[in-house]
Amino acid sequence: MSHLLTMVQRRTIDRNNGGAEVLKGKPFLLVEPEFYWTSQIFDLCKEYFKASSVGDVPNTNLSVLAARISKGSSPVQSSDYQNPRTDLKLDKCLIKNLCTSLRNFCHGGYSKAGGDERKALQDIMYKLASEHTDFADHFFFNFEISFVCRRCVGGPFSSKFSFPVIYADGKKDFQNVLNDLDNVCKSQLSCPNDRNGVICKGTLRNLFNCNLLQFPDMIFFVMLINEEKTKIPESLELCVDDNKQIYTRLCSTNRFQCWFDENKKSYGPFYHKPLPTDIKDSWHSYPSILTSSGFLDFNNGKVYVCDDRLADETTAGSTHIYQKDVYNKYHPDVDTDIYLIPEVKI
Ligand SMILES: [Zn+2]
Repeated sequence: MSHLLTMVQRRTIDRNNGGAEVLKGKPFLLVEPEFYWTSQIFDLCKEYFKASSVGDVPNTNLSVLAARISKGSSPVQSSDYQNPRTDLKLDKCLIKNLCTSLRNFCHGGYSKAGGDERKALQDIMYKLASEHTDFADHFFFNFEISFVCRRCVGGPFSSKFSFPVIYADGKKDFQNVLNDLDNVCKSQLSCPNDRNGVICKGTLRNLFNCNLLQFPDMIFFVMLINEEKTKIPESLELCVDDNKQIYTRLCSTNRFQCWFDENKKSYGPFYHKPLPTDIKDSWHSYPSILTSSGFLDFNNGKVYVCDDRLADETTAGSTHIYQKDVYNKYHPDVDTDIYLIPEVKI
């Protein structure tokens, strides 16, 4: 019941009432109730499952699709969902529940359009890890490291470290990044030593031992902004001593600049190679997800054949998710009776 104690309302001064202090607006929570994030993600998954299971191409829409194909007007692969109410519930779980929770309990910036998918991913993962003691064991990289610090004297010190994503700059491919986990730890971690109640946060100067405690179930690579592109491999190996674990790609995001033409007409939320007269619009990102029909692009509620201009290499600020090969049988079941590969690139 502790969360009830933290419900607050905005206090404002009412100038028409002798400057009396009044309570305004709906009461809101300052901290999350128990398992708040787990239930948000669970509801989202449940609605996603329902929407995707009825999101196939219904026969009733075949004539519409045929008309679209004959006009060559749209590269849409699947028609609209059969049950719009399920779709709306999914939207509610994603926008009204999850995005609002990110705004309320992580950062106010989530109330604006746009944002950084890499931050949202990590915010959600840290919240889930905070609700479940074993979440980080499965989904984070967990190390026991012996190190010396740039700021602390003495050592070596020994500590456990845990982090959810690997930042990659494209200079090395993903496999080479995984082959040198010492370097990942050195570049992403800081000294946790407590100096009179203050955490040091110095750079790790040297690692003497860097032991991965268990193979994570999933690996999340996030690309830095303005860095070099690298090929996206379909599978990766993680080796620790004589043990080896294979990971296969589940999802990649595509992040790119959108454009207006010289008449301020938008080219839409699709990758477009700009002409000299084009004007910059906002940035956009959408995922390519492994489904029962291979990788497909999911862009603003519609399913497309992957854009081959984006499919092979990373884009700046994108995310790439791999899962243990043993789990490589759980994919969204997307029924793709009809394909229409976009002929004209915009
Ligand atoms: Zn230190």
